[in-house]
Amino acid sequence: MDSKWSQSDLEELKSRDALRGINNDISLSVYCTRLIGGDPHLVLHGGGNASVKTVQKDLFGNEVEVLCIKGSGWDMGEILPAGLPPVKLAPLRRLKSLESLSDEEMVSYVRSNLLDSASPTPSVETLSHAFLPHKFINHSHASAILSITNQPNGEDLCREIFGSTMGIVPYIMPGFGLAKNVSEVFEENPEVGGLILLNHGIFTFSDDAETSYRHMIDAISTVENRMGNGNKHVFVPATIPPKLQSLSSVAPIIRGVCISQDERLGKGTNASQNKLILEFRSSDQILEFVNGKEVDRYSQGGVATPDHVIRTKNWPLVLPFPEATGNGDFRKRTEQLTKEFQHRYNSYFQRQVDSRKLQKTKLDSTPRVVLVPGHGLFGIGRDRKEAMISADIAESFVQTITNAESIGEYKTLGEADVFDVEYWSLEQSKLSNASTQPLLGNVVAITGGGGTIGTAIANEFNKLGAQIALLDLNFPEEDHRFLQLECDVTEQASVKSAFETICEHYGGLDIVVSNAGAMHLGSMESVSDETLRESFEINFFAHQTVMQYAVEVMKLQNVGGNLLFNVSKQAVNPGVDAGPYGLPKAATLALMRQYALETGKYGIRANAVNADRIQSGLLTKEMISTRAQARGLDEAEYLAGNILGKEVTAEDVARAFTQLALSESTVANVTTVDGGNIAAALR
Ligand code: ZN
Repeated sequence: MDSKWSQSDLEELKSRDALRGINNDISLSVYCTRLIGGDPHLVLHGGGNASVKTVQKDLFGNEVEVLCIKGSGWDMGEILPAGLPPVKLAPLRRLKSLESLSDEEMVSYVRSNLLDSASPTPSVETLSHAFLPHKFINHSHASAILSITNQPNGEDLCREIFGSTMGIVPYIMPGFGLAKNVSEVFEENPEVGGLILLNHGIFTFSDDAETSYRHMIDAISTVENRMGNGNKHVFVPATIPPKLQSLSSVAPIIRGVCISQDERLGKGTNASQNKLILEFRSSDQILEFVNGKEVDRYSQGGVATPDHVIRTKNWPLVLPFPEATGNGDFRKRTEQLTKEFQHRYNSYFQRQVDSRKLQKTKLDSTPRVVLVPGHGLFGIGRDRKEAMISADIAESFVQTITNAESIGEYKTLGEADVFDVEYWSLEQSKLSNASTQPLLGNVVAITGGGGTIGTAIANEFNKLGAQIALLDLNFPEEDHRFLQLECDVTEQASVKSAFETICEHYGGLDIVVSNAGAMHLGSMESVSDETLRESFEINFFAHQTVMQYAVEVMKLQNVGGNLLFNVSKQAVNPGVDAGPYGLPKAATLALMRQYALETGKYGIRANAVNADRIQSGLLTKEMISTRAQARGLDEAEYLAGNILGKEVTAEDVARAFTQLALSESTVANVTTVDGGNIAAALR
């Protein structure tokens, strides 16, 4: 591992900070924290911290010695001075004389010694930093270090590799006990540049910031050299079947099984409940891992460090190769293995609370990481962010085990130590509070997603917590909140490919809003056949193509779904010269009813929205002005020509779609969004 230290970057940061009155020590610590936090081989999602001991002035102008240490909720890679809250050092060090201290007492005491009471809570590893004498301290859960500590003879191996350059601390969960052990091991040999924490990670320190950072890089490089060349094959491969099911069909099966068996999500097939998002990862290293003959052994050894358990659970779910000729076997096996996984998780919980007489509330038993031989791995989460964190940690888990098995055998802590962290109140607080967003974890595909109405629909579903894929010929601007897919809805192959991408990206699909359309005008007596057929392509056949592919995915998932059609008042209340547009729309209204009738048995609901006189991609400013003129009205009068006498907006249309998605017992409904038009009111 190479040092990423750059004196010029540091000087730049220091001079910027100096202008804002931030002292040099803090700038140095911010720089080190970012260097370490920015490297996924060192730190993943909250697993590490850094500190500096410096002097700050209190309200009376007295200089106080403080420890500035990473506050919870801050990402090391993006830390700012505010993320390193100062805590008075002397009171922290006084704790060393105590025999014991509970976690709650520790957190309360540390908080009460913050210089600024509004600061984030300092890391649970604060006391380890306070009890060590050095000015600069870095801590990470580096994968390379875990590869050597997580061995049957991990301690001996560390001594052999590091000699007397590093101290070795036996595993104990973070808190007061660990801090005491850390300081004792250090005091036995104050010459060490750092400490290896078995099954946990590494501390390095020095009174010089760069030296402290270098100790970390040197220790990891030493381990990397020991593990030797990265080319050698570590795992004996299993026989790969000649033909596998595609990733885009495997993902919805796994997602559907996990949703239907998740005890938090309840029974039934309603779309208006929280679901799960899948994040897929694959690489040569992941493939070698999941395709190994002994994957059932080495993947079940437990998390690389207990800190990961809240994100990934202690083991991944391992599925078989999804053989293309399996005739539904893959689904059956997935259901069965998921049940076994849940049973194993529930037994582990029961065993721990019974044998130790603990009062704990069981967490859900849904897997967070799924290994699929032949393809790769999935991280699972209640939303995309959670799924990506699970996948990041799973990738690091694969790397740690691969390295461990290249020099020995991966072995980690017993389940009691893992349970202590998984059900530790301080660790639970790292997880975001359960969201109340009604469509969290739902995947929505919106056609015509680049237009005014499509964008409004995307924004409304986004507010409700859903993940969104937009399909359109082109997009006026990039929007990183959404998956934007170039797609021509009148081309079968283009639609198929878009739905495959959605399944690979999110794991499946719950709601589809078939919104793309195009205005074709002309009187029936003179309209060309060509124009009429063109209009039918986009205003009828495209809806049918989109819904066919959507239903295919929804059936693979087997947890219901929502088909939403953007129809038009033209479907029930024809306007002069609007036949070429209204006729296919009338057919699309009938199509919605047909889907409602035929897909209800799968829990898939079909509904439609009839909107009128909305300024959008369809009804351009120009068209509105022409129509208004024809009626002797100005544009505003034309747009507000309804019972309410007010203009209807794209947001009004969007909210009609979200309402239909949320109305669990509504089927074959047409919601009008036109400000009131009796001639278009359905009877
Ligand atoms: Zn740690």
